[in-house]
Amino acid sequence: MTEFNIIEKYFNIKQNKRPDVVLGIGDDAAILECPPGQQLLLTTDTLVENTHFFSYTDPYTIGYRSLAVNLSDLAAMGATPAWALLSLVLSEFNDDWLTNFSAGFFNLLKQYQMNLIGGNLAKGPLSITVQVAGFVSKHQALVRHGAKVGDYIFVTGKIGEAHAELINHQSFLTITPRIKEGIALRTIAHSCIDISDGLLADLTHILEASHVGAHIQLEKIPVSAELSWEAAITGGEDYELCFTVPENKINLINFDCTCIGRIEAKSGLRIFNHEKLISIEKQGWQHFC
Ligand SMILES: [Mg+2]
Repeated sequence: MTEFNIIEKYFNIKQNKRPDVVLGIGDDAAILECPPGQQLLLTTDTLVENTHFFSYTDPYTIGYRSLAVNLSDLAAMGATPAWALLSLVLSEFNDDWLTNFSAGFFNLLKQYQMNLIGGNLAKGPLSITVQVAGFVSKHQALVRHGAKVGDYIFVTGKIGEAHAELINHQSFLTITPRIKEGIALRTIAHSCIDISDGLLADLTHILEASHVGAHIQLEKIPVSAELSWEAAITGGEDYELCFTVPENKINLINFDCTCIGRIEAKSGLRIFNHEKLISIEKQGWQHFC
């Protein structure tokens, strides 16, 4: 199969064309219309075989996940997803793999009424790069640097589920990007981040960007039952949201989440276990360590 045939068969499938896509797949570049009064948010992420998934991970999950991790970043900014680009490096042509990968990718794409608007295909060690674009009304995007002293710190979902799966050598849990929650937080949260490197590491990103500190209460964090607290909050790949909200807006939160601590003026992150200050060595996942 040629590059052109592969794109045509597996990726130029019929989509409900968005009105803001003037020209999608098939030319040298896509032509897009940005809605007036909205700001464009862009992000990209790469999944590499044996770093982000195993050779035996089912291709449907890889396709779904390659888009989901990007959507999680849009969720953290409060964006409404719109478009995606996909760059695929394949070691070989495999009809079964491509059919299932494409099914996983387009399944999630459709859930958010997004369009795939282009991409690239090359031969080499298996890796998948996805870029996504979304919109937020001017000045409503959620950022890491907005946390204020006195804000309450919240997390969505359970922390450590992905890490527990990895320990058990099972396939990855399907991520549900917290798009709905991110959009709901636009006018409520002072700061937000998605948890990809582990709760401790990502909350620390908020604290450093906002020039504040915090305390959290370990016993309040909703963790996966199979894991130690330490493993859960440093494990990473949760793709839940961690965000801070001022006291007078807490009653506006209209989805399930858990308050785990509070922003303070003193820099650094203090972790309490039933009122006893504890220290945790490992901070979180990083490449090149
Ligand atoms: Mg992120």
